[in-house]
Amino acid sequence: MSSKPISVLITGANRGLGLEMVKQMVDTQSPLTPLSVLFACCRDPDGPRAEELRALAKKHPDIIKVICMDTADRSSIRQSAEQVGSLLGEKGLNLVINNAAILINSTLVDSTPEDMAKTFNTNVIGPMSVIQEFLPYLRAAAKNSEVPGMSCRKAAVVNVSSIGGLIKNVPFLQELFTAVPYRVSKAALNMLNACAAFEFQKEEILFTVLHPGWVRTDMGTADAPIDCEESIQGVLQVINSMSDKHHGVLTDYEGQTINW
Ligand code: NDP
Repeated sequence: MSSKPISVLITGANRGLGLEMVKQMVDTQSPLTPLSVLFACCRDPDGPRAEELRALAKKHPDIIKVICMDTADRSSIRQSAEQVGSLLGEKGLNLVINNAAILINSTLVDSTPEDMAKTFNTNVIGPMSVIQEFLPYLRAAAKNSEVPGMSCRKAAVVNVSSIGGLIKNVPFLQELFTAVPYRVSKAALNMLNACAAFEFQKEEILFTVLHPGWVRTDMGTADAPIDCEESIQGVLQVINSMSDKHHGVLTDYEGQTINW
């Protein structure tokens, strides 16, 4: 039996892991096919950093819709939700990937209140606002599905987090990877996901957290052991296989469950 086409939205889709998700998702061999529409969101769609995304969208005009969204700005998120809503049918939105984030690499002594506020704004308040603004479309997708249980083909939010945000990792990561505002923000994102998972359990909207691995991107640096292609190949397989058992859970790009 062939699967129903799914609608997907990705934040921070113009470079790094977000762009790689777009690249791989439009490939007909992707585990998440068929797609009805892919909303590739970025804060400056006409700028130089979105050149590759614009070229991809030009090649796949029926699938990729480039949407302007600054995840640090609630009104921008609201406007993009209105735009996406006008393009979506009654079937709603199946999958939201909260991927956009920033990393400020400072120790606790060096971190300013501004560093912490800026990081929280993008990495925590951003995903929260995306969940809130796109909730009507996720709810529509959940109601529209005739399949019981949860999945990313029905209605789901994948929050891209990091093992750098795990309290249990502090002793062995602290020397290597200071980035205090970032790590605190990812711990908060994990909690946001846990709260959402509890709140939307009955509505069968899946809320899950994903660690993409340590990857060679602008954020991950050239020292990382894997490239975007390898990370996202794993990420898409894992997303496609998600079910009720991933609700409120952290999984890595290889499908391993990670304890908090
Ligand atoms: P990059 O720094 O390479 O890319 C970050 C993306 O987020 C860019 O598209 C950037 O857009 C976007 N972004 C940042 N701020 C905003 C904003 N206010 N509004 C809209 N978009 C914004 O990071 P990665 O691709 O490496 O990371 C992607 C995700 O994976 C993040 O959530 C990160 O925390 C997580 N992760 C990454 C790891 C790694 O090793 N790379 C490890 C663990 C987790 P712009 O071009 O406009 O700045």
